[in-house]
Amino acid sequence: MSAKILYGKEFAAKIKESARVEVDDLKNKFGVTPGLAVIIVGENPASQVYVRNKHKTCEELGIKSEVIAMPETSTKEDLLSKIDELNAAADIHGILVQLPLPDAIKSHSEEILNRIDPLKDVDGFHPVNVGKLVTGSPALVPCTPAGCLEMLDLAGIEIDGKRAVIIGRSNIVGKPMLHLLMARHATVTVCHSHTKNLADVTREAEILVAAMGKPKFVTADMIRQGAVVVDVGINRIAPKKLVGDVDFDAAVEVASAITPVPGGVGLLTVAMLMKNVVKATKLQLKVKT
Ligand code: NAD
Repeated sequence: MSAKILYGKEFAAKIKESARVEVDDLKNKFGVTPGLAVIIVGENPASQVYVRNKHKTCEELGIKSEVIAMPETSTKEDLLSKIDELNAAADIHGILVQLPLPDAIKSHSEEILNRIDPLKDVDGFHPVNVGKLVTGSPALVPCTPAGCLEMLDLAGIEIDGKRAVIIGRSNIVGKPMLHLLMARHATVTVCHSHTKNLADVTREAEILVAAMGKPKFVTADMIRQGAVVVDVGINRIAPKKLVGDVDFDAAVEVASAITPVPGGVGLLTVAMLMKNVVKATKLQLKVKT
């Protein structure tokens, strides 16, 4: 058996198209153009690429995009006052601080992110949004796990009643994925670096999400026949070679559907950010999301 390959490009295009329709709707019905402000501090080249990509996607979809480039020497206070200004700006509905912050202020990352108005927190990292996700209220959810869920839905993969296993318990991927799948009535187990007999657990999964950051760690014998495998991992093993957390070539023979790396989940994150900007705008306008 060879699995259906779930290419991120196809799903990202659908997610962006639905965001574009909602953007037009907000403009036509409410005269409001959703606006995203991205703060980037310093000269990290990878961050600059990510920010350019976000800006370009906003422009494609008719979202107002403001990139605020702050010098490497910016202090915590500089960032907090910039965030206060954006929290108060009526034309900005989403605020994102590009991580990582420079070493000198890295230790203040949490305080800085928590200064963002939860209604504008399009990364979904604010404790208020985390709490809402856990309790099942409308929340801004981190883009990568939200993108995985959207992709499963668009691919017509049933979640209700399924046995799901997530490898990784980070705040950005593993934990929100747990709550998203549980809210959709999957029975979910979260594994992590202290999990014993990992393969015994992963072999139970009808939906397996790998988010550990370990190249090709998940081998074919860890995958249940016919499972849906979502590979969130992005691991650089050579200057121009990215691989996921799953040994794709072997897994493709066991799974019923699988995301590749590159070209899989990674492409969904920016698309979901656009959806989050729309959602944030609607939450602020008190329109149903
Ligand atoms: P993280 O380092 O914060 O967390 C990794 C998790 O994996 C931890 O909870 C750890 O307990 C678990 N883990 C590590 N080794 C393990 C082992 N041997 N057995 C079981 N569990 C183990 O990482 P993260 O931020 O959640 O990211 C995970 C991966 O996803 C990385 O490769 C990252 O690059 C990628 N990622 C991709 C996107 C995207 O596609 N846009 C976004 C975020 C993260």
